[in-house]
Amino acid sequence: MSYLHVTAKEQLHEWVEQIKEFSSEGKTADYIPALKDMDSSQLGICLIGADGTVIQSGDYESVFTLQSISKVISFIAACLCCGIPYVLERVDVEPTGDAFNSIIRLEMHKPGKPFNPMINAGALTVSSLLSGETAKEKLSYLFDVITMLTGKTPLINETVFESEWQTSHRNRALAYYLKETNYLQGEVEEVLEVYLKQCSIEVTTEDIALIGLILSLDGYHPVFHKQVIPKEVAKLTKALMLTCGMYNASGKFAAFVGMPAKSGVSGGIMSLVPPNTKKQSPFPDGCGIGIYSPAIDEYGNSVKGVTLLKKIAKEWDLSIF
Ligand code: GLN
Repeated sequence: MSYLHVTAKEQLHEWVEQIKEFSSEGKTADYIPALKDMDSSQLGICLIGADGTVIQSGDYESVFTLQSISKVISFIAACLCCGIPYVLERVDVEPTGDAFNSIIRLEMHKPGKPFNPMINAGALTVSSLLSGETAKEKLSYLFDVITMLTGKTPLINETVFESEWQTSHRNRALAYYLKETNYLQGEVEEVLEVYLKQCSIEVTTEDIALIGLILSLDGYHPVFHKQVIPKEVAKLTKALMLTCGMYNASGKFAAFVGMPAKSGVSGGIMSLVPPNTKKQSPFPDGCGIGIYSPAIDEYGNSVKGVTLLKKIAKEWDLSIF
């Protein structure tokens, strides 16, 4: 690790400690009973640079469920199996300014077409497009894509899945509406199972940092040394993360952090920094960032996670703008 990386690591430890100590806002996602009791004091981060440098701090080893971060992966997977034009016939690429699970605009927009793949309506539609007929086949396809990215076989947290399956009335309502308007393909309950199971996949900050890094490199896998996501798909995914990835706080996040990112209600955030020439950046060739801290704000974004990203972006001048 270079001198620059040693300094960056020290800085990061200091910021993580400060934020852990002074930030007590937000609360765990209690609308999913199994997520309610997560330890809200935790904060962990992992950064992986294009040169292979890994910097970790805090509770970076904690295991958590992907939740909405899975929407990025299922979107990539749907583009891989169906092609971008087919996917975009069924889901738009416009931010909404509404909550991630909002139902209201579905009837107002060209009937039923979800606004983007980063909100629940769009993600349910995207999950229905995944290769395979049954939930099992679709999940197996999605697992293959995840393994291609992380090199690991994904595991589902069954407790989290069961807990959400029992209480997912709003997602059910969204999915049945999307079925009625023909955007959602196949059987509603099968699609709901795929969506809720993809949300329940367990990861660490390192797993999502690696996926972020691959996106930063336009789909090139720096460990496996191959193009695993077509460049066009990677660019589209990053644009969606930047404009829609932090739900109805995406505008504020772009303005005050300025990096493509996707959050989930378990408190994870996957972000990335494109290769840049700014001299404060310890990662001039680009990096992926994985964060975990389970207390979330009213938008569903990790409070400590966003505070930490804001700090890093400011100190290291990482905003893409
Ligand atoms: N499984 C969650 C839901 O559908 C995911 C939401 C999120 O992370 N924002 O409500």
